[in-house]
Amino acid sequence: MSKEVECMCLECGVSLYLDGDIIHLGDYVTDALRAVEKTFCTQCGGQLALVGLAGDEPNYRTRGERAAK
Ligand SMILES: [Zn+2]
Repeated sequence: MSKEVECMCLECGVSLYLDGDIIHLGDYVTDALRAVEKTFCTQCGGQLALVGLAGDEPNYRTRGERAAK
């Protein structure tokens, strides 16, 4: 079962919905956003950051992942 995730372009700010199975997560770019590697904005080719699961509340994973750090 694939999960759709919401990503935001850090260059132009557009929101994109991507298949969660195909994205590669990088480092945190802010406290709440993680960089997405190997996939780029369809509008401007800029860096994307993971916002959360599509339709879910933002920052859904930040608490647990921070605790694991
Ligand atoms: Zn963009």
